Parts: sequence; C-alpha cells; structure tokens
Amino acid sequence: QNRDQYASGYYYFDKTMLEQANTRQYITSNLDRALKEKWIKVYYQPIIRAANGRVCDEEALARWVDPVKGLLSPADFIPILESTKLITRLDLYVLDQVLEKMKTMQRANLYLVPHSLNLSRADFDSCDIVEEIRQRVDAAGIPREKLTIEITESIIGANFDFMKEQIARFRDLGFKVWMDDFGSGYSSLDVLQSLRFDLIKLDMRFLQNFDKGDASKIILTELIRMAIGLGIDTITEGVETKEQAEFLKEVGCTKLQGFYYCRPISAEAILERYEKGTQIGFENPDEDE
Ligand code: C2E
Ligand code: MG
Ligand code: MG
Ligand code: MG
Repeated sequence: QNRDQYASGYYYFDKTMLEQANTRQYITSNLDRALKEKWIKVYYQPIIRAANGRVCDEEALARWVDPVKGLLSPADFIPILESTKLITRLDLYVLDQVLEKMKTMQRANLYLVPHSLNLSRADFDSCDIVEEIRQRVDAAGIPREKLTIEITESIIGANFDFMKEQIARFRDLGFKVWMDDFGSGYSSLDVLQSLRFDLIKLDMRFLQNFDKGDASKIILTELIRMAIGLGIDTITEGVETKEQAEFLKEVGCTKLQGFYYCRPISAEAILERYEKGTQIGFENPDEDE
C-alpha cells in the first residue's frame, strides 16, 4: 500500500511538512483579511510592582482568533510573519490598538498606565520603525514615556551596532526600552554593559525549574542582584505561584508578571476591572506620592 503511494509521488513530503506549508500559506495570504475583519485581537497582561502589589504596566500581546482554525497563539503566526515584512503590518496594528486603548483610558480619567509593545527584528529592516512609532504616538497625543518597546535578547546579538543605535534613538525620543527574554539566548552579558535598557525581563525558563533544586533560585537571585548593582529594574515573567512571587519580592525583583496575577485578557475585560476597581487596581504615582 505504502509502496504504491510512494510510486505515485504523493508522499514526497510528510503530512506535518504539508501542514506547515499550508499554515504558512494561510497566514501570509490572510493577514490583510485578518486585520480588516478584526480576527487579530490585542490582549493585555498586567505587570505588578513588587513593592505595592499594584499594576504598573501592561504588555500588549497579539492573538489571531480565526473563524475556521480557532484561536491561534503567537507561536503559530508570529514566526511566519517574522520571516516576511508582514510582521511590521501586525506590529503597527497592535500599536494603533494600544494607542486607542490608552486614549479610552485618558477619556475615562483613568491613570494612564504605561503599555509595552513587542517588536521583531524584521521591523527594523522593513521601515524606519523608530520614526514610524514616534509619529503615531505623537499623533495620538500619548506621552512618549508611556510607551515601552520590548526587544528580545535574541535580536540584539547578531546586529549589535545597529541595534545599539536604534535603542538609543528610542530612548533619546523619550520611549522606554526593555530587554525581553533575558537569559534565553546566547548573547553575552556584554549587552548589559554596552547597551542602555530601562529594564531587563528575566526569561520565564528560570521559573520553570523553580521546584527542581536550587539552581533556578540561585540564578534568579544573582541576576537580580546584578541588575540592582547596575541600577536597572527587573521583571521576572512566568510567575505562576505564590511561592515564586514571594521569593522574587524577597530577592529584590522590581516587577512581576504571570498567570498568578493575571493572564493576558482583552481590552474590554481589563478596562472593566479597572473601572470596577476590583481584583487588580493600578498604581497611580500622581496620587500615591
Ligand atoms: P513575550 O513577549 O516574552 O511574552 C510573554 C509570553 O508569556 C506571552 O505568550 C504570555 O502569554 C506568556 N505568559 C505570561 N505569563 C505566563 C505564565 O505565568 N506562564 C506561562 N507559561 N506563560 C506566561 P504569548 O502571548 O503566546 O506570546 C509569545 C511571544 O510572541 C511573546 O513573548 C512575544 O515575543 C511574541 N509576541 C506576542 N505578541 C506579539 C506582537 O504583537 N508582536 C511581536 N513582534 N511579537 C509578539
Ligand atoms: Mg514581551
Ligand atoms: Mg518575554
Ligand atoms: Mg518569552
């Protein structure tokens, strides 16, 4: 039976390869439609300040809610879009959604919590992304210091001088820049002495071994101690339990993010929580001080 199929040429590549090729084709050819029909949603995950337990930032995370394929996570579509310039269309769409949400918060007289946006390497090749973002943020009337750019460790390593310049441009304009997924790749600690970040986000892999021996706790403790020494704030991502949260507070992590506090949720859901003042409130430095 198999031999016949090979002979007839059907099985040149296996099913998973075929599926991958189909998914790729589907994603790249449907992005326009997905944006227009609002299949792309922006979810928001609160980030909590260790010192006061309040929301101090929100990270924007893209979702593709497909009418046929159901909910697609970023792992299903971001890498595909990243291999083309299409990722920039998505990221600028996410930015526009973030700016709309922030304008809604302004109108409702809510404290304007800073929002962070994830960028990919391809964004820096497809256009002058720094200038593009500046124009949109200024046109929306949102203060630049309220928008944070998250750049993963992995995209810095191979393009050091270029990325150094782009990060400096963002910061000179008044945007905050965070290094995402620190400790997940192969880039050296040199990035910490040669580049200026407002904060480093420690990759969630360190918490994944939290209950298996001491290594995870030792590494987190020392990375956070190093950041404190350098005067850089830290977030640990992937906090899922109370024990993890307590430990991180004790060793001096500045901010915490993870399912223990809140999963990424829709703009409507998060605004509703703020308006009701229930469950999670945000800090308001203007009033708290
Ligand atoms: P990231 O920026 O490191 O985002 C953190 C990821 O961890 C998110 O996955 C989030 O949902 C997940 N997460 C948060 N807390 C927990 C936790 O307690 N436990 C576990 N197991 N996971 C947690 P998500 O939303 O699937 O995004 C994956 C990655 O895709 C992001 O990693 C980011 O690199 C990328 N991404 C997401 N949205 C965008 C976007 O709009 N543009 C670009 N360029 N990349 C994006
Ligand atoms: Mg991120
Ligand atoms: Mg991350
Ligand atoms: Mg990550």
